[in-house]
Amino acid sequence: MVLTSTYTASDFSPQPGDLGYGRWGNPTWTALEDAVGALEGGPALAFGSGMAAVSAVLNLVPLGGTVVVPDAPYSGTAQLAGELAAAGRLTVRPVPMADTDVVVSALDGADLVILESPTNPLMDVADLATIIAAARARNVLTAVDNTFATPLLQQPLSLGAHMVVHSATKYLSGHSDVLLGIVVTAQESPELEQRLHGHRTINGAVPGPMEAWLALRGLRTLALRVERASANAAELARRLGDHPAVATVRYPGRPGHPGHELARTQMRGFGAMLSIELNGSAEQAEKVCAATRLWIHTTSLGGVESSLERRRRHGGESKLVPESLIRLSAGIEDVEDLWADLSQALDAAV
Ligand SMILES: *Cc1c(COP(=O)(O)O)cnc(C)c1O
Repeated sequence: MVLTSTYTASDFSPQPGDLGYGRWGNPTWTALEDAVGALEGGPALAFGSGMAAVSAVLNLVPLGGTVVVPDAPYSGTAQLAGELAAAGRLTVRPVPMADTDVVVSALDGADLVILESPTNPLMDVADLATIIAAARARNVLTAVDNTFATPLLQQPLSLGAHMVVHSATKYLSGHSDVLLGIVVTAQESPELEQRLHGHRTINGAVPGPMEAWLALRGLRTLALRVERASANAAELARRLGDHPAVATVRYPGRPGHPGHELARTQMRGFGAMLSIELNGSAEQAEKVCAATRLWIHTTSLGGVESSLERRRRHGGESKLVPESLIRLSAGIEDVEDLWADLSQALDAAV
């Protein structure tokens, strides 16, 4: 881990990519970027947070341009796009990710489409290959938020995307001790990488070396964590489907999920995120979240520990998200312990 804000002059020559000052580059970032880039299949840039990465991507839209976004994306993405629209910087077209025809018809005249699949927290599945091909045919830039799937389960660049965005705060780091973002660009788009790099430098949207180092350490167990957490999520989704307090289980791995067949072909696994809607009120959902002991009642996701949250407790969450929806991030604990804790909380609250 290289902790420095400046480099001795002998390290510096004014060539692109050379280091001189800590905002321009850091060898620990580079190590992380090389690793994530290898997983996603293109050059990667690390940012100070997932939102710094999303912001850099939105900044690619020219003044007065149009961006197509999911109608219920990660709430920060919706908020930032909404603020840019309110300021007259760009126009936002919200679309339902699972309705491919609607997404494709919104691409005409757009400059950028941000895709999320599965979506946070509705777990909708987008037909990435079809939408990306349609966007490319219209000269629309494509960015896929791959935070939920991780590059182990889904590689959007291989489906033709120009960019992949990560909140590396989540699975890539995996231990809830880091804020970090990543943008990976397609191999054939070095100009995008250069623009994003320039944005990061001049906006100071840089990660700390300690964060990059922690993410590198987390990456070493990414495959094990994703495998175990996904297996836990699949088993919990199955059992939750039979619980009388649960009205709906949203998990692409369930055969009844509308995106199940698509996810089977598009993904290598269904991931460790799932959402449930209760046969009950927002208050009852809050009670469930408050009644768990092993599951941590908190925002964020993708850690080794299981966590849950009623998403509508955040004012910024989409109104398309049901009031009683609880988003679950399955961790790597023993699945029987997870079920015992979750089912007692559901039994007690509803
Ligand atoms: C958390 C999250 C983000 C934002 O990342 P931060 O690291 O919190 O800034 C973006 N997209 C998705 C899907 C997320 O879950």
